[in-house]
Amino acid sequence: MERKTYTARLINKLLLSESAQCFHLEFEVPELEKFSFDAGQFVSMVAIDGLGKHQTRAYSIASAPRSNRFDLCVNRVEGGFFSNLLCDLEPDAKVEFHGPHGLFVLRPPLMDTILIATGTGVAPMRGFVEHLFPSRTEDRSEGKHFWLIYGTRYQSEIYYRQYFEKIAAEHPNFHYIPALSRPHDGWTGLRGYVQTHVKDVLKDHPEMVPEHTPGGPANNSRPQLRAYICGLNEMVSANRDQLKELGWDRKQIHFERYD
Ligand SMILES: Cc1cc2nc3c(=O)[nH]c(=O)nc-3n(C[C@H](O)[C@H](O)[C@H](O)COP(=O)(O)OP(=O)(O)OC[C@H]3O[C@@H](n4cnc5c(N)ncnc54)[C@H](O)[C@@H]3O)c2cc1C
Repeated sequence: MERKTYTARLINKLLLSESAQCFHLEFEVPELEKFSFDAGQFVSMVAIDGLGKHQTRAYSIASAPRSNRFDLCVNRVEGGFFSNLLCDLEPDAKVEFHGPHGLFVLRPPLMDTILIATGTGVAPMRGFVEHLFPSRTEDRSEGKHFWLIYGTRYQSEIYYRQYFEKIAAEHPNFHYIPALSRPHDGWTGLRGYVQTHVKDVLKDHPEMVPEHTPGGPANNSRPQLRAYICGLNEMVSANRDQLKELGWDRKQIHFERYD
């Protein structure tokens, strides 16, 4: 079946990190009044390369639905075709895409949730947070707790830090936990890989770890928890394995892999 392809027009571009060459790109879809999707889904961008070959790459939508617009968070991959094409776009430039696609969406019913991301894996998390804690309409978090554990190498690569800090300051049920794997000397925040901090959050909230009966399977009498993980495969696998070792059921763990 032929997919419906749309044209997106870049309306705003912000440099999120000079060192990581990461950009926040805001698009509109002029032919649509409303671009409908669920927070966390991705679009497939389409272009023809220098050899005349069609190239398609997935990019998570970094915003909640709003009129005919959507945002992306893209970093340059050295020698990469599509990431550089997108990062080089200037306002008013157009690019083709199809979508929305994907099942990385908040599943009902809402539960206390750990959001785990590294690098541009924060994109769908920004979509979730915008959906749950909108600035202009009513809060959709239903009083559930959301921990965003975000890992990156350097302080200059903590994308959307001010936004998440503001949401955390305004909503006692949103907890923002950035951690650096290669912190500079003066960094007073958390260090190390996200897995360590996931474990710490769970340690502080024993009610989130299913009870084990000695010698028996996990007693999932408290399955009111979920985890959403997004980033490169190695990090996603490490976190899935850790949660499973802690007794989480695979149905509680949702993930999106970028590679
Ligand atoms: C569901 C999904 C959602 C995604 N969302 C985003 C997003 O929100 N933001 C974003 O920036 N990317 C995202 N990606 C990754 C994106 O689709 C591309 O893979 C990435 O931009 C590289 O494409 P490219 O054409 O520039 O590189 P290519 O020309 O495909 O590859 C060039 C070289 O870089 C390597 N490479 C490919 N991807 C990466 C990577 N991510 N990191 C390091 N090396 C890599 C390749 O192995 C190859 O050697 C997502 C991927 C998936 C599957």
